[in-house]
Amino acid sequence: MLFPNDNNSGIMRVGLMGGTFDPIHMGHLVTAEEARQQFDLDYVIFVPTGSPPHKDHDSISLPEHRYLMTSLAVMSNPSFFVSSFEINAKAPTYTIDTVRHFCCGEQGSPELYFITGADAILEIFTWKEYEELLRLCTFIAVSRPGYSLELFRQTLDSNCPEMQQKVHLLEIPALAVSSTFIRERVALGKTIKYLTPEPVEQYIKNHGLYLVGK
Ligand code: NAP
Repeated sequence: MLFPNDNNSGIMRVGLMGGTFDPIHMGHLVTAEEARQQFDLDYVIFVPTGSPPHKDHDSISLPEHRYLMTSLAVMSNPSFFVSSFEINAKAPTYTIDTVRHFCCGEQGSPELYFITGADAILEIFTWKEYEELLRLCTFIAVSRPGYSLELFRQTLDSNCPEMQQKVHLLEIPALAVSSTFIRERVALGKTIKYLTPEPVEQYIKNHGLYLVGK
């Protein structure tokens, strides 16, 4: 995957936006844009999960659907890209593999920022090679309104104090929308207009996704 290198300082700052994206929604897009601006990122690459080792695969939409919906959603932003790295992997993928893939590319070693939900990041000490992950990238833990940032810090302190320096918290009011909320609305026949970009809404309709609540 090649990206234009228009950063005069030499070292690119790249956000990796990890998640299931089932489906992607406005909250994810607002998050990526906010992270791009606050952390002065050159690009944000969305990385939909393939076969996450920690999930029941029957309850998640096919990787192809999630990849295509994500691609449709980011189309209009020249700073956003989508990677099929995890989707195409034959075996279950771990974040360490993804980070290694992006940190040692053809265009040198970018500074990596892994962006995902705060709850997922709280579990990082259970992830494969998490100490190496902490060495290779910085984490942006995204929280929804009502999420206790105090509790997040305390939990991190007691489980993984070495992470304090490598984790930034980002509160995103637009994350009041969630993928679960969208799936439930579709299953109930309710509108999802303005909760996700229109091409994604159309894709969900055309492929009959989420008609049965999960
Ligand atoms: P998930 O099931 O998609 O999401 C968990 C929670 O975080 C949901 O509330 C979700 O909200 C929110 N979220 C997910 N991605 C987000 C994002 N990019 N920005 C803001 N909020 C987000 O994801 P997950 O299975 O916990 O995994 C999250 C990431 O961590 C993935 O990239 C996954 O590969 C990685 N991970 C790695 C390991 C490992 O390497 N061992 C283990 C666990 C997770 P929505 O439902 O609205 O998206």
